[in-house]
Amino acid sequence: MVRLPGCDGGGETTVLAHYSLAGISGRGYKSPDALGAWCCFPCHQKVDGAEKSEYTRDQLRLALAEGVFRTQVEMSR
Ligand SMILES: [Zn+2]
Repeated sequence: MVRLPGCDGGGETTVLAHYSLAGISGRGYKSPDALGAWCCFPCHQKVDGAEKSEYTRDQLRLALAEGVFRTQVEMSR
């Protein structure tokens, strides 16, 4: 659902990637699953910062936020 270039479309590697948000998550507080996006391994590596990408932090946060929106729509169907 995050759909960065290099996205493998998920399948076996899909995990719920949580969006960090001030006031919701932080030290000792994990984001709730409601702020999760179904995310494949290649996308997760980038939005987590585990792998360098050509995107800025803001671009990666936007991609993850859009992934959360898409996931919420899918889950509400
Ligand atoms: Zn992906």
